[in-house]
Amino acid sequence: MKTYKTIVLKKGKEDSLLRKHPWVFSGAIYNADDNLQEGDVVRILTANGDFIAVGHWQIGSIAVRILSFEDEQIDVEFYEKRLSVALDVRRSIGLLRNEESDSHTINNTFRLVHGEGDGLPGLVIDFYADTAVMQAHSVGMHTDRMLIAQALKRVMKDELLAVYYKSETTLPYKADLCQENGFILGSSTNDIAVENGLKFHIDWLKGQKTGFFVDQRDNRSLLEQYSKGRKVLNMFCYTGGFSVYSMRGGAELVHSVDSSAKAVELVNKNIELNFPNDTRHKAFAVDAFKYLDEMGENYDLVILDPPAFAKHRDALKQALRGYTKLNAKAMEKMPKGSILFTFSCSQAVNKDQFRTAIFAAAMQTGRNIRILHQLHQPADHPINIFHPEGEYLKGLVVYID
Ligand code: SAH
Repeated sequence: MKTYKTIVLKKGKEDSLLRKHPWVFSGAIYNADDNLQEGDVVRILTANGDFIAVGHWQIGSIAVRILSFEDEQIDVEFYEKRLSVALDVRRSIGLLRNEESDSHTINNTFRLVHGEGDGLPGLVIDFYADTAVMQAHSVGMHTDRMLIAQALKRVMKDELLAVYYKSETTLPYKADLCQENGFILGSSTNDIAVENGLKFHIDWLKGQKTGFFVDQRDNRSLLEQYSKGRKVLNMFCYTGGFSVYSMRGGAELVHSVDSSAKAVELVNKNIELNFPNDTRHKAFAVDAFKYLDEMGENYDLVILDPPAFAKHRDALKQALRGYTKLNAKAMEKMPKGSILFTFSCSQAVNKDQFRTAIFAAAMQTGRNIRILHQLHQPADHPINIFHPEGEYLKGLVVYID
């Protein structure tokens, strides 16, 4: 049994914890034991000295990320318990489909752990075939990475061959940690994962996030249904997820655009993997705004999935203007009867604000648009009801006449 250091809250500052919100802000702390190290597990006490929660401490405005509201040890068994619940959820919603008779439904790509949504703040784990890519967003999860890898192996057994740790860009830059990316359990050279029967090269070595945007799976499936006979523009394509689905959906042509030459290389590789020598697809390494200014008026199915325009609340106004400008540029060139899939992954922009930004784009361009679908993050990116901040991805599918 380890004894953990303690943190005592100011009077009344336990209220958010009583509502099971999983963060303690630094301003709520009355005092802390000496020699706390970033990443330490701490027990949190109310001003009266009563135990209230246990979590990872680090320097910053979010001082503690709560792991449990029970007075328990944070050891390999703790992680095993949390991971096995997370896996049960993914199994019960049918995301592990390695041996299907219909090749279109095979799936071995999913998010196993989505931070607070799975009771593990600061931790993300994505599954690609037999490799788990683990990302720590807090010092505590970085400290516990080997325990977590061990627990993951216990839970996944033979379904897991390797754990790749990829936290170089996600940990607080001030923390003095050695955080080289690399395999921390086993190894694998298979970089091909299958999502709904489509194959993707996953660049966990150098790619963005954990190598792939798992969160757009359901939205890509919806796009597939609308692709038949359409001329598709996939703007901000990255690995080309939307492009590959629209090819399978029977699009007449698919153009993928990303400012990164590396992304364009990746989308071409993924198209080749699924549709070798198919001339319907072309990819361009160009800035989005430039492409939209210079393109013709013949795309009748457009996807706009830009990077987060607002990384913080202060950037909100500017971000909303950015979404309006981007969408207006696309809308003004789209013929009558077009369909637009438009997204925002900025956590700081809520769905009403995003919808207002699209409203403004419709006003500016004089287009009549109706909302066909309101989209969001998929079920393997669950939102903890006590932590509304976990909601980040939103999208609209609109019909333009
Ligand atoms: N739609 C993708 C994810 C998009 S991530 C998917 O489903 O996987 C955002 C992408 O936008 C990145 O690949 C980034 O290189 C690209 N990007 C960022 N700024 C851009 C710009 N100004 N013009 C074009 N692409 C841009």
